[in-house]
Amino acid sequence: MPNDNKCTTLVISCIDYRFISSCRDYLLKIGIKDRYDLLTTPGASLNVQKIKDDIKTSLKVHGPNEVYIFDHDDCAVYGKNNSEERHIQNLKKAKEVINKIQNGLKIYTYIVKFNKVKQIN
Ligand SMILES: [Zn+2]
Repeated sequence: MPNDNKCTTLVISCIDYRFISSCRDYLLKIGIKDRYDLLTTPGASLNVQKIKDDIKTSLKVHGPNEVYIFDHDDCAVYGKNNSEERHIQNLKKAKEVINKIQNGLKIYTYIVKFNKVKQIN
């Protein structure tokens, strides 16, 4: 593990215990191991506005240049309207919020399904 106080990636995901391993497995599969900050908030993209200060802190202290946002299927925070369209809308909004905090970040968005991880952009 590098000890230079910098990381490459900020990961934002829901708190839901059912999807933690899927997110981590996916990050390992694409080669992101031990070099990301992790922020969890109920609903992930739905509540990015609420964790703006935490996002700013990660960007400031660890300097990641890319952000991964993981929404997931069957998110209780979404209530009855858990449609993919709604997740996609919120993922887009979350990207805009983060771009306003710091321009030039690469932002990747996903919906974690029960059997796979679907990239949205
Ligand atoms: Zn959730």
